Amino acid sequence: MTLWYDPREILIGGQWRRTPATLALDDPSTGEAFGEIARGQASDIDEAVAAAEAARHGVWGRTTAAERGRLMARIGQMILARADDLAQIEARDVGKPLKQAKGDALAMARYMEFYAGAADKIMGETIPYMDGYTVYTLREPHGVTGHIIPWNYPMQILGRSVGAALAMGNTCVVKPAEEACLTALAFARIAEEAGLPPGVLNVVPGLGEEAGAALSSHPGIHHVSFTGSVGVGMLIQAAAARNVVPVTLELGGKSPQLVFEDADLDKALPFLVNAGIQNAGQTCSASSRILVHRSLYAQVVDRMAARYRTLRVGPALADLDVGPLISARQKEIVEGMLALSSDLTVAARGQIVADAPKGGFYVAPTLLADVTPGHRLAQDEIFGPAQVVIPFDDEEDAVAIANGTEFGLVAGVWSENGGRQMRMAKRLRAGQVFLNNYGAGGGVELPFGGVGKSGHGREKGFEALYGFSVLKTVAAHHG
Ligand code: ADP
Repeated sequence: MTLWYDPREILIGGQWRRTPATLALDDPSTGEAFGEIARGQASDIDEAVAAAEAARHGVWGRTTAAERGRLMARIGQMILARADDLAQIEARDVGKPLKQAKGDALAMARYMEFYAGAADKIMGETIPYMDGYTVYTLREPHGVTGHIIPWNYPMQILGRSVGAALAMGNTCVVKPAEEACLTALAFARIAEEAGLPPGVLNVVPGLGEEAGAALSSHPGIHHVSFTGSVGVGMLIQAAAARNVVPVTLELGGKSPQLVFEDADLDKALPFLVNAGIQNAGQTCSASSRILVHRSLYAQVVDRMAARYRTLRVGPALADLDVGPLISARQKEIVEGMLALSSDLTVAARGQIVADAPKGGFYVAPTLLADVTPGHRLAQDEIFGPAQVVIPFDDEEDAVAIANGTEFGLVAGVWSENGGRQMRMAKRLRAGQVFLNNYGAGGGVELPFGGVGKSGHGREKGFEALYGFSVLKTVAAHHG
């Protein structure tokens, strides 16, 4: 892995500088530290917000939508040119198998391309009104947007939120996760090289309870976008409420895939497993519950189990099916959850390869069968490589189980019956429903977000541009 920048620096107002305090950079594949990053403080966030505020009144405020788009297209091209470097950095930093890390780099480039093309296609409306009036709407940027990014898909989540915010003309302050800030810093270097004016993008790594809390509660921020855990999401919404600032929250999930008796199982099987173990299950939209019609239940468990037994877990650079979890803490949490499975059937486990470094944060993927819908492992997010398989009797039962958690992020339906597909799409409580496919983490173009404790607001796709803008109504009386 070659870093072409100093990972201890933060970016404020176009200036790179170090912070007095630092945090260790850990390699999840070995458990060993391999460097340091900055530990930004509330005072750094103050400066970053001030720099972003100044930048929105400077050249960025006069940059046309088409020019913003052109600049973002350039950033996208530069990310593509460095995709292999970025993948290496991410693999080392978060333990993601190399191919999955490369996929994230390509997705970040796609977000830039998508929002580059969309920047000058957001339009207002003219509204018929009383005689003698012309009324129209303008879509304007919020101003300074705060972005609190998690460690599970650092490049994709930064790309989708900063991409949409910049396309709409906002200026951004980014607080990447303390476990995963290297690619956020790389992105900022690339954006700078592409010609993004100073202060438009500011990046302050640091701890959630320090830099993150300072950002979400800052009175100078006009919108906060957060992806992460439900508990922190609540804190962020409460902090933003004190300033009456809108938030977009993308939180957890317990997303089901429903396998009906008429499903094409050969097509479904790879999706059933991959959607659960991708990124070691550390995916908000992971499909952690598989609901199967009773007539197929034993067959689906057997076939999923056969796949589980072939899963290999090891260091990111070995590029196996599953990498380590992000941290010792996360491994402890997931193992603690899995310890609750003593009353369940372990249908199969994957295997940690023999030469995986002993200090790495590895957890063997676990498939759990004979699970009742109310079991804690069928209700709570595990955020590790584990799935539960639950039988159901009919559509009514399937919907009740699928909708029977406090989350509602994604759902998948496997059925060859068109009427059933349509009924399920309407009845499932989720922000996205996939019919005969499942897109955990994917879909740059597809609006994404949750209901219930999965959060609110929509990211990705064109829809995100509305979230990153404010509608102004202009009513002109001209007689
Ligand atoms: P996890 O618990 O899975 O590590 P978090 O939701 O804690 O996920 O982290 C997601 C992001 O939220 C990270 O960037 C983290 O630093 C940040 N964060 C954590 N705690 C807070 C907080 N109290 N206020 C603001 N941001 C926070």
